Amino acid sequence: MDIIQAARGNGCRRIKLITNGRAFSHAHYLQQVINAGCSLFEISLWGSNPNFHEYLSRTPGSFWETVRGLENLSGIPVDKFVCLRIPVCKENFSDLENIIVTALNFGTNRIILSMQDSTLSFQSALPHIINGINISIFNRVWILTEGIPFCLMQGLEQHISEIYSGWDTLYERMYQQHKQCPECVYKELCPGTGVSYIKQFGDGEFSPVRAGKCFQDIKVLYA
Ligand code: SF4
Repeated sequence: MDIIQAARGNGCRRIKLITNGRAFSHAHYLQQVINAGCSLFEISLWGSNPNFHEYLSRTPGSFWETVRGLENLSGIPVDKFVCLRIPVCKENFSDLENIIVTALNFGTNRIILSMQDSTLSFQSALPHIINGINISIFNRVWILTEGIPFCLMQGLEQHISEIYSGWDTLYERMYQQHKQCPECVYKELCPGTGVSYIKQFGDGEFSPVRAGKCFQDIKVLYA
């Protein structure tokens, strides 16, 4: 709370809180956070039910606390922006569509599907990710992916978060191009794939993009 107030006092107009949302299960605490000047929230949801969510959060009771936090947030009558971050991993990818529906029930403004598990193949996760993107589009909620290269997102390029935020920092260290990349139109924009992912699964899932319909538009965003 002190940090939010200090940031506000120093003239910061957009203050974003990244949290598991559990503390917002106490409505009076949430109200204090909002009164202190925070109106942007990013909340992580690992599953659509306690079994999935708490297996990954390793905290009994955390699912319902996060859900109550989201309910309190959606019910509070102030201007705010709520982003749901869904880390995608081998323990929860089969639940992805349900997690997205859960997120939509709380009036979420944006959803981020973040591929964070190099032991989960894109081949397994992508059908659920694509279903999830379509569910979100159908419900008119903006949805983005993290960590999925252009060649696997053809036709859905506008949902790749890195075209807006860039692939630097983390990706520079952990990603590398592989033998499919030199032939790809995105080779100057895309860092490739996770080093440990390629070690485990190889590069057979990736095909170079020869002529991306959105390539010129995406290139402009990088200029
Ligand atoms: S082929 Fe390589 S450069 Fe092209 S999109 Fe895929 S990972 Fe990126």
